[in-house]
Amino acid sequence: MAKAHKRRPPGEPVKTRPLSPPPEGSAVIPVSGAVINRRAAERLRSGHLWVYVSDVVSITPREANAAHPQALLPVADARGILLGTALYSPSSQIALRMVSPHAIDDAEWLELLSQRLHRAIVQRKSLLDEDNDACRLCFSEADQLPGLVADKYAGLIILQLLTKGLDSDAVREACVRVLRDEVSPAAILERPDPRIRELEGLANPPAAPLWPPAHQQGLATTQFRLNGLDFHYDANAGQKTGAFLDQRMNYAAAREWARKLAPDGRVLDVFCYQGGFALHLAQVCRAVTGVDASRASLEVAERNLANNRDRLAAEVDWLEADAFELLRDWSDAGKVFDAIVLDPPAFAKTRRAVEGALRGYKELNLRALRMLRPGGLLITCSCSHHVEWSDLEAAVASAAADASRRVRLLERRGAAPDHPVVLNLPETEYLKCLVLEVD
Ligand code: SAH
Repeated sequence: MAKAHKRRPPGEPVKTRPLSPPPEGSAVIPVSGAVINRRAAERLRSGHLWVYVSDVVSITPREANAAHPQALLPVADARGILLGTALYSPSSQIALRMVSPHAIDDAEWLELLSQRLHRAIVQRKSLLDEDNDACRLCFSEADQLPGLVADKYAGLIILQLLTKGLDSDAVREACVRVLRDEVSPAAILERPDPRIRELEGLANPPAAPLWPPAHQQGLATTQFRLNGLDFHYDANAGQKTGAFLDQRMNYAAAREWARKLAPDGRVLDVFCYQGGFALHLAQVCRAVTGVDASRASLEVAERNLANNRDRLAAEVDWLEADAFELLRDWSDAGKVFDAIVLDPPAFAKTRRAVEGALRGYKELNLRALRMLRPGGLLITCSCSHHVEWSDLEAAVASAAADASRRVRLLERRGAAPDHPVVLNLPETEYLKCLVLEVD
């Protein structure tokens, strides 16, 4: 089949064509593929890539073998007009994720995947330097590769294939080829995401490294560098693919704001995980306390502290505690800090959970505001796509009113540029970080 996606000159509108000639006077159901309703078709035409299962009118033919559904499906609207080709996820709420506005076959898709992965990596190269050898090389929909995440931690690459249509040897081989050509890693490992595995009905990924072929001891751990600080990495532990690379620029910003507003101060990093914010703040402050409910995370934080000791000015300690209880006790006890970071886990994983999440954000921010000295610094984050800027800001404003404090917004910050936001895909904008000065 011709490579339609290659021939179309950039900027020229995508031409749509029926899958088969419409019979006189009737709507066309494609011979093979998915038909979607009008709402979903409009969504795709406005640049989105997802079709929810509730918007799928029909899928033909029903797969003969449910364990091995077709990875790619042509997608048409109810009139039979082709909208493109999608990755198909039979057990997910997001049934279809578009990968091309044309009809493409498996070989063309693999070629497209290789080109997009290559381009994603090239776009990140300027972010890597001697102070930073870790970044997200590919971020799923934001790089037009739905479900494909690749993170670099020094010489280790962690690959995640998070949609059913990507779960194939051919896709793994294509990824390994491009990653080896572009970044010459010591190893490429695949890491599952348990929640998404369940939603997508994915099999366990291979335990052996995707590269090199023969298993070698010690491949799963390394040390990586962010903003000149060294962090321990273990591919078999921790959250996400291991670290929160999306916060890298916010760590650096927190350090610079603290240098201005809380030099030599006492700071609290709540939900500190392995010490990302805490260790950056420890370069400019006098005393840093990191709080997390996970002992395993704090053990890595302690290790990271030891790795960077000679670069840090502060005394640093870690506290295993529930953040809500600790903030309530400490604010009631009248404790005072010069700067506080709040970076909780995603409270709202679904739209329905937003209301409860906002109560959680308000409570945390209220407690933090009560503990900040006048002129102090509050850095408060949300990593839920469903919580919008206006929601987070309203929660903080309401907390400020209850605490009788005035907050001035210094900066609205998002994720680092290796986690780009695509304007037509609102879900790519998930991380929000407010930097506030508290009067
Ligand atoms: N700030 C971190 C990322 C935080 S992720 C960084 O930049 O690396 C969220 C963290 O919150 C996780 O480490 C998790 O263990 C912790 N956590 C979740 N619920 C908690 C609770 N109720 N109290 C304290 N920590 C909690």
